[in-house]
Amino acid sequence: MSIAHGAWEHDFGELLEDVDWAVVLSLVRAMSCNHRFKLLHFNFVHRTYITPVRLNKIDPARGASCPKCGLLDASFLHLARSCQMVYQFWRAVVGKVEEVMGLRLKVSPVTCLLGVVKRPRGRNIPYKRTQLALVLAKRRVAIGWMISRCPSISCWISDLMEWGAAEEQHLCITRRGKGGLTDVVAWGTLLVHFSSVEELRFRGEHG
Ligand SMILES: [Zn+2]
Repeated sequence: MSIAHGAWEHDFGELLEDVDWAVVLSLVRAMSCNHRFKLLHFNFVHRTYITPVRLNKIDPARGASCPKCGLLDASFLHLARSCQMVYQFWRAVVGKVEEVMGLRLKVSPVTCLLGVVKRPRGRNIPYKRTQLALVLAKRRVAIGWMISRCPSISCWISDLMEWGAAEEQHLCITRRGKGGLTDVVAWGTLLVHFSSVEELRFRGEHG
């Protein structure tokens, strides 16, 4: 059992019984061509982020409450997913990924934070694209980690637009198999979808 596995098992017990930890850890290497995203996934799996609870243990003068909702004893899991303000963000992210990629996902720590996405039997899914969408959402959560504001869904969409082209180019060059083609098609669909969202927003702001 890895250190990461032990900490998650402590919090979720039998809920993690069917989680394949070899897959979770392999995502660190395989999820993206971008090393910063790999490191980000590693940091979430190993829960390396400082929290109000940890800061309070180091210096009791510092409060242990959540900077967003004010709840006492703000742990890693609270700031990463359970805080109501962060949960709303994850719900919007999962809703968009489901809508565009045609998947069914749970707004659970296992899916959102560990990146565990079940593949329906007999069907290819845009697995890498889904992983990238989730890691970019984790990036938004990390950017707003100890501040009062909720992570921004429109910033997440902008991130997808920004990083999508580079990832797609890399995917086209390196993945020519059946699964890779599913990813490329889905990514194209996603970019077209979000382009129209961005265009509508721009028209709304400047029309
Ligand atoms: Zn909170």
